[in-house]
Amino acid sequence: MRPALFLDRDGVVIEQVAYLHDPSQVRLEKGVAENLKRLHDAGFAVVVITNQSGVARKLFSLADVEKIHEKIQQLLAANNEKIDAFYICPHHPKYDVDCNCRKPKPGLILQAVRELDLDLKHSVMCGDKISDVQCGINAGCAKSLLIRTGYGREEENAARQAGMDVCEDFTALTNIVLNK
Ligand SMILES: [Mg+2]
Ligand SMILES: [Zn+2]
Repeated sequence: MRPALFLDRDGVVIEQVAYLHDPSQVRLEKGVAENLKRLHDAGFAVVVITNQSGVARKLFSLADVEKIHEKIQQLLAANNEKIDAFYICPHHPKYDVDCNCRKPKPGLILQAVRELDLDLKHSVMCGDKISDVQCGINAGCAKSLLIRTGYGREEENAARQAGMDVCEDFTALTNIVLNK
């Protein structure tokens, strides 16, 4: 069983763009490609856990979301890297169903653990919103923390008040995950 780093997508792996659906707007966050290599070399799976309620809101389709993920993989391929899997919640309780996969609910992490045979007890969740950190806590990850990219700086104070750990950027996150 491999441990995993579970990552929120927008504001963590790629720069935050509200209701992103145009692949030409995809930009990797600083340090992602290089640090994915470090994580993979250390035996971690890297899995994106993303809420995409724009699908429920009919702003874009699930196929549009997949195109964004293909673009992310293309950009990473330039460094011989990739995300191991993407798990998507397309729902929103106001627009379609009150599902079990919308963060902060742990459904997507638990599904990934089952399907990819991951070692949850040694896995980490990181996102730029408190709901991401809460998702990791709800799932039972070893560690869950906020990153100060995307919405992270806006969420930081509330996260700290809630006793959550905060890291500066993707390189700092990777150092924490790898105990370096
Ligand atoms: Mg985000
Ligand atoms: Zn869902």
